[in-house]
Amino acid sequence: MSQFLRGLLFTASVTVIGGCATNTTTTEPTATAAPEPMPKETTLPEGVGINLSYMDTTVSPGEDFFRYVNGNWIDQTEIPGDQGRWGSFQELRERNNEMVLSVLQEASANPKYVDGSAERKAAEFYRVGMDSSRAEQQGVQPLQPMLERVKALKTKKALQDFLAYEDRRGGDAFYGFGIFPDLKNSKVMGAYLGAGGLGLPDRDYYVKDDTKSKETRKAYEQHIARMFEMMGEPNAQKKAQTVLAMETRLAQKMLTKEEQRNPYNLYHKRSIAELNKMVPSVNWQKYLADIGAPSLDTLIVMQPKYMEAYEKMVKERSLDDLKTYLNWRLIDGAAPFLSNQFVQANFDFYSKYLRDVQEMSPRWKRVINVADGMIGEAIGKLYVDEAFPPQAKQQAMEMVENIKEAFGERIRNLEWMSDSTKEKALQKLSTFTVKIGYPDEWRDYSDLQINAGDSASYLANVVAGNEFNFQRELDKLGKPVDRTEWGMTPQTVNAYYNPLFNEIVFPAGILQPPFYDYRADAAVNYGGIGAVIGHEISHGFDDQGSRFDAAGNLMNWWSEEDFSQFNSRTGELVNQYSAYQPMDSVFVNGKFTLGENIGDLGGINVAYDGLQRHLQENENPGLIDGLTPEQRFFISWATIWRTKYRPEFLRTQVLTDPHSPAMYRANGPLVNMQAFYDAFDIKQGDPMWRPESERVNIW
Ligand SMILES: [Zn+2]
Repeated sequence: MSQFLRGLLFTASVTVIGGCATNTTTTEPTATAAPEPMPKETTLPEGVGINLSYMDTTVSPGEDFFRYVNGNWIDQTEIPGDQGRWGSFQELRERNNEMVLSVLQEASANPKYVDGSAERKAAEFYRVGMDSSRAEQQGVQPLQPMLERVKALKTKKALQDFLAYEDRRGGDAFYGFGIFPDLKNSKVMGAYLGAGGLGLPDRDYYVKDDTKSKETRKAYEQHIARMFEMMGEPNAQKKAQTVLAMETRLAQKMLTKEEQRNPYNLYHKRSIAELNKMVPSVNWQKYLADIGAPSLDTLIVMQPKYMEAYEKMVKERSLDDLKTYLNWRLIDGAAPFLSNQFVQANFDFYSKYLRDVQEMSPRWKRVINVADGMIGEAIGKLYVDEAFPPQAKQQAMEMVENIKEAFGERIRNLEWMSDSTKEKALQKLSTFTVKIGYPDEWRDYSDLQINAGDSASYLANVVAGNEFNFQRELDKLGKPVDRTEWGMTPQTVNAYYNPLFNEIVFPAGILQPPFYDYRADAAVNYGGIGAVIGHEISHGFDDQGSRFDAAGNLMNWWSEEDFSQFNSRTGELVNQYSAYQPMDSVFVNGKFTLGENIGDLGGINVAYDGLQRHLQENENPGLIDGLTPEQRFFISWATIWRTKYRPEFLRTQVLTDPHSPAMYRANGPLVNMQAFYDAFDIKQGDPMWRPESERVNIW
C-alpha cells in the first residue's frame, strides 16, 4: 500500500505521454519567422541535438506544433508489438532496459560479486525469473501455500489473520497498511490504513453506466472466470460474478481519483479504539501485532467510507464469498510470475484488451521490470557505473540552480499574488532539496532472502522481495524520517516532486538524450530536461503541492484572496484541457490532469527563462541548423512528447493517468505563451493562437 500512497503523493513528472493520430493536412511550406540576424552559426556533431528529418515542415508551427515537430516521425514509425504507445520515453526505456540487461549478465559472471552481496542477489533474482521451464513445471504450485491459508479459514473472525499475512507479502485484498511520513507532521512517520484491491484499473470502471464500461466489466468477469477455471475451481462463472459484484460494492464507496487529488480527503486520524468501533469485525490491536507493527495509538485512515463498506460486506457476505474474493486477489496478483497459461491470460486482459498491446514483451524485459521494484538500487549501482559520468551530475545541477532562480524571479513578478504570500512561496522554493542521478548511500539488501536453489520459484522471490520492503517500511516507525531516501531507482526514465520532503528528484535514467545531452546546445537541453526540471519545481506549487508548506507539512500558507486567485487561474486550465478530445467520445479530464498540466505550463515557462539567463551569461551560439535558440528550445520540448498510441491504450490512459496525452502536453502550454508566438511568428488566425485574455498564466 505504500506504493499506493506513493502514487497519490509523489507526483511523477513524465510517466505518461500521448501522441496520437493527428491530422495530416498539408498547408503552405513553413512560414517560420525570419530569425533576427545572429552573430554566427554553430554546427553540432552528427546525430546530436534536433533530428530535422522527424519534422513535417508542410505543417506550419502555428497550425499544429506537435505535428510540425514530429510529423515525419509519426508517419514513419510503427508502434512495436509489445507496446501500447511508443515515443521518446519508451525509446529511452528500451535503451535503459538493454543496459540493465547487460550489467546484470555481467554481474552474474563476475566473481567479485560474492554470495550474499546485493549485486549477486539481483543477478539471482533475474536468473530464477528467467527460468521459464521451472515456472512451467511448477504451474500454480508456488501460490499453493497462500491458497491453502484461504482454504483453511473457518470463521469470518479469522479473516483478519489472513489479511495480515498477505499484507506483509504484498497482497492487496480489502485493505492495506503502509508507512509514510505523517502528512501534517512530516518529521515523523505515520501509519496509514488504505483501501485495497480492485482488479480493474480505477473505481470508475465499476460505477459508470456507458456502453464501453459495461462491456469492459463483462470482459473482466470473463477473465476472472477463465483464471478460476485454470485453477480448477468449480463454478468458475458464478464465482466470477460474485467477485465483480463485491468489487463493485467496494468501488462505490471509494473516493474518485479527482477527490483523491485533495490530500485532506485522505487524512483521517483515528484512535485504535475508534477504529475498533468503526470496523468491529477486525481486532485492530491483533492485526497490528500480526503484521509485526509496534503497538500504535492511532492510524491515519485514508478512506473511512470504504472501511465502513468493508465492514458491511463482511457482515452480509458468506464466508465462501469472502474466500472467493481472496482467491481472486491472490491469483490476479500472482499470475505474472506463474506458468505461461496464467501469464498469457493476464496479458490477454490487462495488456491486450485494456491497452491494445499486440504481443507480450520478451521475458527478460518483464523480469527486469519486476526486479526494479524488488532490488532496484542494487541494479542501479551497476547501471550508473556504466551510464552516468560524474560531469553529467555537475552540469545537471547547474541547470537546476539556474531554473530555480528563474522560478523565484517569476514568483517575485507575479501580478496576482500578494507580497506576504510571495514571501512564503519564495521561502518554500529556497528550501527545495535537489537529488540528481543516484542516492549518496545505497540501500542495504542484507535482509533480503533470494532463493536460487532447486526449491526456488519466481513467485516466492517476488513475495520475499515484498516482505523485505514491507519490513523495511515497518522498521521506520518511531524513527526520524530519512530524507535521503529515493522514491525511484537510478535507471528509471522519470522524475518526481515529493511534497513531504519538498524535494525534486531526477534519476540518471532520464538524464539521457533526447532529454539531456552534454554535447547538445543549451537550447535543446533547456527545452528537454530543463522543462522537466521546471515541471517538477512547479509541482511544488500545483493543486496538491501548493497545500504543503516549506517543511513538507499539509498546512495552508496562502491568504484567502491569493488562494482564490490561484484557483480561478487553475480553473481556466481545467477548462482548456477538458476541451481536448483525443478519441470519439473521450475527453481529457481537466480536473484529474490539473497538477500535471500546471507542471507543464510552469515548467516550459521557467525553462524558457532559464535559457534566457544562460544565453546572457554565456556566448550565444547563434543559428544551428538554421534555427534560433528559441526555436530550438520549443522544438526540443515537442520532441520529448513525440508519441504514438494504440487506441485502447489511449482510452485507458485518459481514464487512469493524471498526465494528459502527449500531443496536448506538447501543444497545451504553448498556446498560452507569448515567447512561443514570437519564436515562430504565430499570428491571429493561426489555430495555435489565442487572444491574450484567454491565455492561462499561473506561475
Ligand atoms: Zn508531473
